[in-house]
Amino acid sequence: MTLPITVVTLFPDMFPGPLDVSIMKRAQDKGLFSLSTVQIRDFAFGKHKTVDDTPYGGGAGMVMRADVVANAIRHAKKESPNAKVVFMSPSGVKFDQNKARELAKHKDGLILLCGHYEGIDDRVLQSEVDEEISIGDYVLSGGELAAMVVVDAVVRNIPESLGNEETLDEESFDIESERGEKLLEYPHYTRPVSWEGQDVPDVLTSGHHKNIEKWRMEKAFEKTKKNRPDLLKG
Ligand code: SAH
Repeated sequence: MTLPITVVTLFPDMFPGPLDVSIMKRAQDKGLFSLSTVQIRDFAFGKHKTVDDTPYGGGAGMVMRADVVANAIRHAKKESPNAKVVFMSPSGVKFDQNKARELAKHKDGLILLCGHYEGIDDRVLQSEVDEEISIGDYVLSGGELAAMVVVDAVVRNIPESLGNEETLDEESFDIESERGEKLLEYPHYTRPVSWEGQDVPDVLTSGHHKNIEKWRMEKAFEKTKKNRPDLLKG
């Protein structure tokens, strides 16, 4: 089954970009997802094809017009009428692995709306958008990079998209402590066993699977405590 993804953007030239290499390319070749773009400017009116205007109430910047953006979204919906419309926005709900997993299951497809300038007239969000997603607490110049991040994370979570060399259930956020906390990933090592005075921890070459598992859990916990204490319960 193919997950159809449409990006509604003023800059379709940015796509597929990184979404056409490595794991993403293979997933597309396998038919796990399809990627298309809709150019918002094609739905602008008049000779100048204007998509934005000054904000009511004053203030800096330009706001993308509701009518133009809505027409672009409705065009995307013709192809996938039950797709979930997601607006990429710094004021959205924060994106995470759970959300990526949830969106990967939405087989009716995703329409990712990218803003630019100050943002988009709020009325189109009310009438056309199902969810607003932020990829983090910082402001990007446009939604395109955010959309790429979401596509990559979502597609990785379509089970068939990863080969044997990668796996889904032992990654950061998939490892769980006994208390049900999501942990970051434990450290990895490969050959050579000794490098510039640093040796691979003995336990990993011991062949003792129980001990290896225990060691990895400890390391995952240490790492989480150091870098992301917010993930741990008290
Ligand atoms: N004035 C807006 C920022 C606009 S940035 C504000 O203060 O909220 C322009 C566009 O970039 C946004 O419409 C959105 O589509 C995208 N964008 C910026 N930061 C983002 C983030 N952290 N996550 C997702 N999209 C983002």
